[in-house]
Amino acid sequence: MKRRVIAFDLDNTLTDSKSPLVDEMADLLDRLLLRFQVCVISGGTFEQFQKQLLHGLKAAPDALRALHVMPTCGTRYYRFDIATRSWRLVYAEDLTDVQKTKIVAALTKGADALGYRGSRLWGRRSKTEAARSRFSALGQEAPIAETEAWDPDGGKKRKLRDYVAKLIPELGVRVGGSTSIDVTKHGIDKAYGINKLLVLLDAAKQDVIFVGDRLSKGGNDYPVKAMGVDCLAVSRWQDTALVIQTMLGVT
Ligand SMILES: [Mg+2]
Repeated sequence: MKRRVIAFDLDNTLTDSKSPLVDEMADLLDRLLLRFQVCVISGGTFEQFQKQLLHGLKAAPDALRALHVMPTCGTRYYRFDIATRSWRLVYAEDLTDVQKTKIVAALTKGADALGYRGSRLWGRRSKTEAARSRFSALGQEAPIAETEAWDPDGGKKRKLRDYVAKLIPELGVRVGGSTSIDVTKHGIDKAYGINKLLVLLDAAKQDVIFVGDRLSKGGNDYPVKAMGVDCLAVSRWQDTALVIQTMLGVT
């Protein structure tokens, strides 16, 4: 089957967690952009995309037109604007101020009730952006070794998610990264973003391959698999590099 769209998760799929793209991967993506429409979708913000992905790409402006940037699970969508040589926001579906206030109150209450605010902290615990509010138990800047040790079986995060979801049933509450809970409008997950992409590109599910590291049930990539898109599971960017090499026929 001829595919036209290759979509990727960001963390642990194209890069190490919260780390910039390495040159090898940048080169592979630059080449992939000449052959396919390429989407990168993540729960992270556009600023995170800039740091981890966009600054590392060396593709020509024409090639960058094939890149579809979907931060915060596709509630924001950016394309490269050749005239201004910059990334342009095409649409944004943001939370209202009232919703943001309610979210922060619910996350704080839940974290207090479960005793998650007593631990050591690296940076701020809550971060509310246009379309998403994130609670990170150890702070936004916690070292990876600490975050990975905090809740290896996911039980702490699920408890907080369930607690907060009952307080704000009108909003969507999900487990985010290794220490974090994300709140967005309801029904916002990567399947939401991929469905948006299908409309934007006038594409069918069968035209897409999605590559991600959290495709098992409960993972943040799972909704894409559940909607019926063909998915490839990886566990680190080195796996993805092999996948892209195979797509390009350069292995
Ligand atoms: Mg990931």
